[in-house]
Amino acid sequence: MITLMLALTVVIDPGHGGSNTGAPGRRPGTYEKQVTLSVARMLKARLQESGATVVMTRDRDEYLTLRERSRRANGHASTCFVSLHGNASPDHSRRGVETYVLSREVTEVEARRARVQSSEPAGAAGLLAELALIEAHRASVSLAQAVHGRLYEARGGARQVKQATYDVLSGQTAPAILVEIGFLDHPLEGVELLEPAVQAEVAENIAAGVLEFAGYQRPGLAQLQIP
Ligand SMILES: [Zn+2]
Repeated sequence: MITLMLALTVVIDPGHGGSNTGAPGRRPGTYEKQVTLSVARMLKARLQESGATVVMTRDRDEYLTLRERSRRANGHASTCFVSLHGNASPDHSRRGVETYVLSREVTEVEARRARVQSSEPAGAAGLLAELALIEAHRASVSLAQAVHGRLYEARGGARQVKQATYDVLSGQTAPAILVEIGFLDHPLEGVELLEPAVQAEVAENIAAGVLEFAGYQRPGLAQLQIP
C-alpha cells in the first residue's frame, strides 16, 4: 500500500470590507464585514492547526473590487474556496445558515465560453477547460454538502445546499462555496453572531466540513491510500 500525503490549501474570503460594509449588525457600529473577518480568522486558525495552508483574500478592513478578490483567490493552487457572508431578511424574521454553490446553468455557460475562447476551437484544450469547470461544480456540491451538513446541525437553517449566481463564485477554478453564516438582522441570531463563542462554533463546523471534504484522516496531513 502506498500512502500519499496531500497538501491542503484553502482560500478564505471574508465578505465585504472597507466602505463595503455589508448588512448592519444588531448592535450600533457592527457590520457584516466585521463578522465575516472575525469568523474567517477563527476558521484560518482552525485549519492551520490541522496542517492546512490558508490564504485570505483580505485580513483587514479593506475594500476589494470583485476583480481583485478573484485575483487573490485564483493566485494559488488551492484545494477549495470558501466565501463568508451574513444574511438579512426584509422583515428580520428569518434565521439559520445557507450554503451556496454556483448554479449549474452558469457553470455550463462558463464552460462553453472556456471552450470557445481556447486557441483551438473544439480542440482538446477547450474541451479540457470545459470538463474542468464541470468537475469543479461537482466538487463544489460535495464541499457544500460536507460543510452545510455540520453547520445545519449546529445552527439550523436551510435544509439543502442552494444554487445561485454569486459573482464571487463565478470563475473560481477550485471547488467554491459561499456560506451565509446566519441572519445578522434577526433579533436573537443577530446578537448571537456578534459573540466570539458563536463565531467560533460556526468556524469550527466549517473547518470540519472542509477537512472532511479534503479527506483528512488525522491532523496534519491528508491521506490518499492506494492499495
Ligand atoms: Zn454579504
